[in-house]
Amino acid sequence: MSKAEFINARPALTAPALGEPYLLTPGPLTTSLATKQAMLRDWGSWDTDFNRVTAEIRQGLLQMAGVHDDSYACVPLQGSGTFAVEAALATAIARDGKALVLMNGAYGKRATQILDYLGRDYIALDKGDYLPPQPEEVAELLKNHPDVTDVFLVHCETSSGILNPLREIADVVKAHGKNLIVDAMSSFGAVPLTVDKIPFDVMVSSANKCIEGIPGFGFVIIRRALLEQSKGRAHSLSLDLLEQWQYMERTGQWRFTPPTHSVVAFRRALEQHVAEGGVAGRQARYTKNRDTLVAGMRAMGFQTLLEDRWLSPIITTFFSPTHPNFEFKRFYNELKARQFVIYPGKLTIAESFRIGCIGQIDERIVGQLLRAIADALAVMGVDDCRPAN
Ligand SMILES: *Cc1c(COP(=O)(O)O)cnc(C)c1O
Repeated sequence: MSKAEFINARPALTAPALGEPYLLTPGPLTTSLATKQAMLRDWGSWDTDFNRVTAEIRQGLLQMAGVHDDSYACVPLQGSGTFAVEAALATAIARDGKALVLMNGAYGKRATQILDYLGRDYIALDKGDYLPPQPEEVAELLKNHPDVTDVFLVHCETSSGILNPLREIADVVKAHGKNLIVDAMSSFGAVPLTVDKIPFDVMVSSANKCIEGIPGFGFVIIRRALLEQSKGRAHSLSLDLLEQWQYMERTGQWRFTPPTHSVVAFRRALEQHVAEGGVAGRQARYTKNRDTLVAGMRAMGFQTLLEDRWLSPIITTFFSPTHPNFEFKRFYNELKARQFVIYPGKLTIAESFRIGCIGQIDERIVGQLLRAIADALAVMGVDDCRPAN
């Protein structure tokens, strides 16, 4: 990288354009000006310059996952993150295989829906809205169901914000000799996840979460031997990861039209990720965001869904106040008028809302958010933020 490029790549938190709100949503999220600017030109998908960008991002992602040899492959795939999850499940699980899906929210549930479409056999451990699957439960299930071939776990279950005990579960899965498929969509890039510490077989993430790119593609990091033995498993031409990988290896190109602007923006986002200190740097900023947010919200009387030890630095769920004047839609609009977009809750048990800690925001901006929340509540006439108990 030249000096000028390095300075350009330095993480400078730039306010969104006038009137553009901060997206406190777990992807799409607020991107940097540099990342947006990377999209101000057009690229030919066959061109060698573009192919170089593709090669660089694949290499950068493998490095982030701690891969230093060719034992794993990185396969980007057009579409949102779910497309990549679907492709990964179809590739990793043999047609006569059987998955154990660990579920504690919307994304674990979505994996079972995908398996239904794929016609793959599975059992599920459903912990409800937010309880973490325990390693002992996984061990017990694997003992009682020796025909299970693959275990699927969501690392950060974005629907509640819980950070599931990946390391402990990975050890159990490996001790039983099963394949581990991790949906690290909302954690990869901000929570350490490397092959030396977490012996995963397949890991899925996407451009518009913790690496702070824009939507357009997902990517799968997969043990190469597993990928190579997956011929004939895919149910879908466009989601065939093996074909996508082989074509990319052979030609340097994406098999079908790539989301060119999203790809070049992602390269710029990756440079900023490195300049911020990689995963550790990003984790530190997001953690500070979360700590500032949670402390400020609790000071106003709000309560988090989760105990502190389960809170991810990605997104936090708060219970809605039971005060009669609190109405989520109004709250949302008041905050949007103050330049902050938040997220509705996804719980079946209680009214809630979520606030993301990821994207180009820092504790100073979280401080502004807290003032905006206090203002919004005052305008709404909500003077007690406690939920029902
Ligand atoms: C965002 C996300 C996905 C993918 O969702 P898309 O809307 O398809 O991008 C999958 N799993 C988790 C845990 C996520 O946070």
